Amino acid sequence: MSPPVGVAVLGSTGSIGRQALDVVRAYPERFRAVALVAGAGDGRLLEQVREHRPAVFGLADPGASACLRARLGPEELPGLLPPGEDCASIAAALPEVELVVAAVVGRAGLPGVLAAARAGKRLALANKEALVMSGELVMGEARRTGALVVPVDSEHAALAQLLEGLPREQLHKLTLTASGGPFLRLTPAELARVAAEDALAHPTWSMGAKISVDSASMMNKGFEVLEAHWLFELPLERIEVLVHPESLVHGLLQLKDGAWLAHLCQPDMRQPIAWAMARPARLALGERLPGFAPLDLAAAGRLTFEPLDDRRFPAVGLCRAAQASGGGAPAALSVADEVAVQAFLAGRIPFPRIAEVLAEVLLRFQTRPLGSLEDVLAAGEEGARLAREALAGSPA
Ligand code: NDP
Repeated sequence: MSPPVGVAVLGSTGSIGRQALDVVRAYPERFRAVALVAGAGDGRLLEQVREHRPAVFGLADPGASACLRARLGPEELPGLLPPGEDCASIAAALPEVELVVAAVVGRAGLPGVLAAARAGKRLALANKEALVMSGELVMGEARRTGALVVPVDSEHAALAQLLEGLPREQLHKLTLTASGGPFLRLTPAELARVAAEDALAHPTWSMGAKISVDSASMMNKGFEVLEAHWLFELPLERIEVLVHPESLVHGLLQLKDGAWLAHLCQPDMRQPIAWAMARPARLALGERLPGFAPLDLAAAGRLTFEPLDDRRFPAVGLCRAAQASGGGAPAALSVADEVAVQAFLAGRIPFPRIAEVLAEVLLRFQTRPLGSLEDVLAAGEEGARLAREALAGSPA
């Protein structure tokens, strides 16, 4: 067997990052963590460094990096990268890194993803914001260098698995399933009264805070439509969303002759993460990952599907509109969403106000040409500014 693949985990202390390291731990003959990067979690990163002994590691946050430095032994110090946003890009481009797991949350994930694409690495991509904001740039770089972009997002991983080997002319459309989140059955009046902890309690998935709120608002599904557009090179009108509360069917293809192909798995992110890391191999996850139980369809009993209610959940429509506007509008929307979600989590705005703020941002955003990462980040910053202005007029 070939030596273990050198892996960089960007966002190693987060929900996806920790599960990627579960896979590394379970398959030491296949994977070796050679670079670990996170934001501000010095305690958690230190534990990971002591366990995995990566060649390099770092934190974007200077204060947290200083705390980490103070706790490192002399033999560990040389591996510490200087703090700052460059940490992830440096780690992604290291020669000993073959596979980059991109699991930083939000726009902070862009530089690492782009660096991995530019360096021609295999990219297990969880950071959907990189494609939402700068899909053309990232996929263009990947095409130029031959970097393989493999999705970690469960729906896209499902679709990619279904699409493998399928002659493209046989495909009619893609369907992304959505659990519907914790608020699927709530009336508009009830939606106005939900609190942050309600949004964080997702019925089927356990995830980081930002994506949990995005799942509750369906913004996550809107971002996923754009992510699918870039990954699978399909126009938006051939990408649909279907609510499927059981979260057992993760992706569906409809073929030219009317037949459907479906991907089913229990809602456990370790399946798409391990698939994206090991592809084309299939790992016997049940044998090595604690608590990983294969889906029991008879026990699941039923699979139900329903259309998305765009009136209560306007987010998917907003994402489609942003993509149709182009010129940085999706980047502005994505960063505006980070700002609005923070305001909701801090108890500053009611839940439905998130979508209202985003609609206001889209109305006011002036599209512009995007040629570089700097342009993308500037469009995002403009989205954040417009969101802060909209929030300033929001009721407390
Ligand atoms: P978490 O909030 O759990 O983790 C985010 C990670 O990013 C942490 O390790 C955090 O470090 C790190 N981070 C934050 N800022 C920076 C920065 N400036 N530089 C480097 N690292 C940084 O998020 P998730 O794991 O839930 O999500 C990660 C990405 O994966 C998101 O884009 C999300 O949309 C996507 N995704 C997540 C899924 C899930 O099941 N969780 C499913 C599909 C996609 P620290 O905490 O130490 O500050």
